[in-house]
Amino acid sequence: MKVLVVGNGGREHALAWKLLQSNKIEQVVCVPGNGGTATLEHCQNLPLAVDDFEGISQFALKNEISLVVVGPEVPLANGITDYLQNQGLMVFGPVKAGAQIEASKAWAKALMQEAGVPTATAAVFTESTAAKSYLQAQGAPIVVKADGLAAGKGVTVAQTIEQAETAIDAIFQGQFGSAGNFVVIEECLLGQEVSVLALTDGLTIRPLLPAQDHKQIGEGDTGENTGGMGAYAPTPIATPELMARVQTEVLEKTITALRNRGIDYRGVLYAGLMVAPNGDFKVLEFNCRFGDPETQVILPLLETPLEELILACIHQRLGEMPPLAWKEGAAATVVAASGGYPGDYEKGKSITGIQEAEAAGAIVFHAGTKLNSTQQILTDGGRVLNITGIGENFQQAIAQAYTGITHIQFSGVYYRRDIGHRVLKIAT
Ligand code: ATP
Repeated sequence: MKVLVVGNGGREHALAWKLLQSNKIEQVVCVPGNGGTATLEHCQNLPLAVDDFEGISQFALKNEISLVVVGPEVPLANGITDYLQNQGLMVFGPVKAGAQIEASKAWAKALMQEAGVPTATAAVFTESTAAKSYLQAQGAPIVVKADGLAAGKGVTVAQTIEQAETAIDAIFQGQFGSAGNFVVIEECLLGQEVSVLALTDGLTIRPLLPAQDHKQIGEGDTGENTGGMGAYAPTPIATPELMARVQTEVLEKTITALRNRGIDYRGVLYAGLMVAPNGDFKVLEFNCRFGDPETQVILPLLETPLEELILACIHQRLGEMPPLAWKEGAAATVVAASGGYPGDYEKGKSITGIQEAEAAGAIVFHAGTKLNSTQQILTDGGRVLNITGIGENFQQAIAQAYTGITHIQFSGVYYRRDIGHRVLKIAT
């Protein structure tokens, strides 16, 4: 079977890598892919944009692609699944109506309120005067969010009313384009964030191993937010009791609420939770796709063939699948980033040490890389490589990732030295 994976990040490299572990998958084509998918055996890149639905569809139909797996949220929010399904292709990823759960925070909030899913108290505004008077009444700290997709930049956790007002002004002045047509103002929650990614066929919903990521650029979880500087799974914060509650209070309720709105949601439903010190939790956000970098620690631990799960979701047979099989132990990934990220950074730096990192036992997933005409791997983005370690416990997994990353060299390389610091304090 031939599979086409849409996207070019570490998540898509991990998806291609995992799919190719099954002897049922002959070939993966990544659109547009990166240096990692260009050099992976039985994998090739196709230089089309992720929003070129027509080009993707024509290629898939001509080349006997049996399955399209969509990585990023933007094509899902723009209806890639609806488009390709109309051309007769089999697609993993929710339809446009379902992707609203990530593409509109106001829509997701209304769905959660309707379904009784625990979430932060919030109000939605279309103009700044009402937004600011609500702010005054609530006080700081408070969270201000642009409604739509803003690549992680649309959220301000404001410590003061002034910061919150500045964020409201920026959104309504168009800093995020149409993503800022609405502003969501939300209660500020405290605790640890946990990512629960689940697979669903629209009826049954099965969680994957719970993960945690480090969003901030600086050690000690300080500084600007990024796409994620590292991750680990399975996090012990998500105890079996907490996961049982997430299943009934979040995942099942949400799928039912989507069905009640006439939405047949099949794909990944990713719940971003804030878990309070007393173990209570609330949903911060939903995503409609695999997380990045969480996927890079979840898939290396998954033993069930990924394509079997994906096909069960598409054919609405997830309920008939046996329980998911997982490797014992833990996985951790450390992101090697370009110097300057998440601000400005240079591209095109030559990368060395990937084979040495792999020889030391790490799995190297490429994110912002490309293969040039002389077969060299160059940096091509802010987050460049995800160095993943697996082990019997977190100490081993984290140590393997860090042993691997010491081999990686490119001009300006930056990585956090403290990935997993919280979990190392509570787990072995
Ligand atoms: P964007 O919409 O810009 O793409 P996003 O989808 O990542 O961003 P969220 O996940 O809702 O946006 O928020 C980003 C981060 O802001 C969260 O991971 C969390 O750290 C913080 N955050 C969001 N909501 C709250 C809240 N209610 N209380 C505390 N922190 C929050």
